Amino acid sequence: MDDCLFCKIAAGQIPSDKLYEDDMLLAFRDIDPQAPVHFLVIPKKHIASAAVLTEEDGALLGHVFAVIAKLCRELGCDESGYRVVTNIGEDGGQSVKHLHFHVLAKRSLAWPPG
Ligand code: 5GP
Ligand code: ZN
Repeated sequence: MDDCLFCKIAAGQIPSDKLYEDDMLLAFRDIDPQAPVHFLVIPKKHIASAAVLTEEDGALLGHVFAVIAKLCRELGCDESGYRVVTNIGEDGGQSVKHLHFHVLAKRSLAWPPG
């Protein structure tokens, strides 16, 4: 999508601090980190949010979580733990309308979220 920030990041038109990239996905550090480790994983194709995922996206989602687990091992937060969050819509706190998974780690995270 032409006016989508994360499509531009996925296409390399806007720079990002990349942690992982392949044909399907990009992982990069959040510009406003909320934990010592805070990165985002996005599909390269534009999907507005998790609310529009279908059964056909199963392989993509499996890949997302496999990449998250691999990065968390590499970043040394697999044993201490981490949180994966995807915000949906206004009440969910979604500010960028391109599906993304936040991964937060290296501090104790409160529950329930605010
Ligand atoms: P949301 O609020 O939609 O769940 O999350 C969007 C996230 O994208 C926020 O955590 C925000 O800090 C991050 N973000 C917004 N613009 C940029 C950017 O240009 N670069 C990077 N790396 N992160 C961004
Ligand atoms: Zn997009």
